[in-house]
Amino acid sequence: MARVFNFGAGPAVLPVEVLEEAQKELLDYKGSGMSIMEHSHRGKEYDAVHAEAIDNVRKLLKLSDDYTVLFIQGGASMQFAMVPLNLLGAGQTADYVDSGAWAGKAIKEAKLVGNVAVIANTGKDIPTRMPKNEDLKVTPGAAYVHITSNETIGGSQWKVFPKTESPLVADMSSDILSRPFDINQFGLIYAGAQKNLGPSGVALVVIRKDLADRVPAKVPTMLKYQTYIKENSLYNTPPTFGIYILSLVTRWMLKLGPEALYKQNVDKAARIYTALDSSAFYKGTAVKEFRSDMNITFRLPTEALEETFIKEASKLGMKGLKGHRDVGGIRASIYNAFPVAGVDALVTFMKEFEAKNS
Ligand SMILES: *Cc1c(COP(=O)(O)O)cnc(C)c1O
Repeated sequence: MARVFNFGAGPAVLPVEVLEEAQKELLDYKGSGMSIMEHSHRGKEYDAVHAEAIDNVRKLLKLSDDYTVLFIQGGASMQFAMVPLNLLGAGQTADYVDSGAWAGKAIKEAKLVGNVAVIANTGKDIPTRMPKNEDLKVTPGAAYVHITSNETIGGSQWKVFPKTESPLVADMSSDILSRPFDINQFGLIYAGAQKNLGPSGVALVVIRKDLADRVPAKVPTMLKYQTYIKENSLYNTPPTFGIYILSLVTRWMLKLGPEALYKQNVDKAARIYTALDSSAFYKGTAVKEFRSDMNITFRLPTEALEETFIKEASKLGMKGLKGHRDVGGIRASIYNAFPVAGVDALVTFMKEFEAKNS
């Protein structure tokens, strides 16, 4: 078996242990004679999977009873719409930080629903960065304040979350459960699963329950958080296989320990950033203070060299290093499940490539 080093931004690398477990259980789930994919979402086998997935997330995020864990389809992109549909009342204003491509998409959806105030804008800054907390111009009485904890394309990451009077809402798609944080600072967080949690097709939402009661009556049933809260995310058929994989990934995280995982993430990123910082050939694209531990973005002296870099890396089994099509350059996505050996392979290759081409 030849597994490559998958630097792809999403869907992304999954822990080998998880894939092996899923493979082992694929045809005959725990002696039931069928795959978990073929089980009813109302049967006892799937019930246990669903319960474990929720319980694992509750443990990893240290959730109090004020918060509930939901699984919703439509990815993070549907949360761009669900958040304002549920939380932004008529006549109210929602505060948004524009920090890049993903924040921009969240803002676009919110504007379709109600009043939006962009309270800081670093979205087009080069090098990429997050705003400083003291520069946020929050609206008194805002319905909520929305941030993007990690800009997957620009490679910038919020390091210390702002403390806000209005409920803080965060798109954590690309750094969920990669580092410790205090959930009690947030009213709602959401994440498409396909970066740090599992396969695509399921989004994780953690919401402080009282916020769900704000929803206007006219919002369709499937777009109301209340529906998912009341029915434990089983109002209709949930993406059962995705939630099953998520249960295995979160089990893997608990086994490793969130602190150890965090340390490993910081260490992995530092190895690549050290290589960038000690080179005049490569140039990081994010401001140091805000550079991401998940998506490491950099440029080479020319686009032609970048193309060669990506091609040669691919031949060596390092895939998915091409930057997002909107910005170009190189992007190494090194989520929780990305192995240290892959980071070291990249660093070694970077040094060799530089020596040959500078
Ligand atoms: C990938 C990503 C999204 C989009 O997620 P989908 O599940 O494809 O809708 C949104 N926000 C961030 C920060 C992302 O990284």
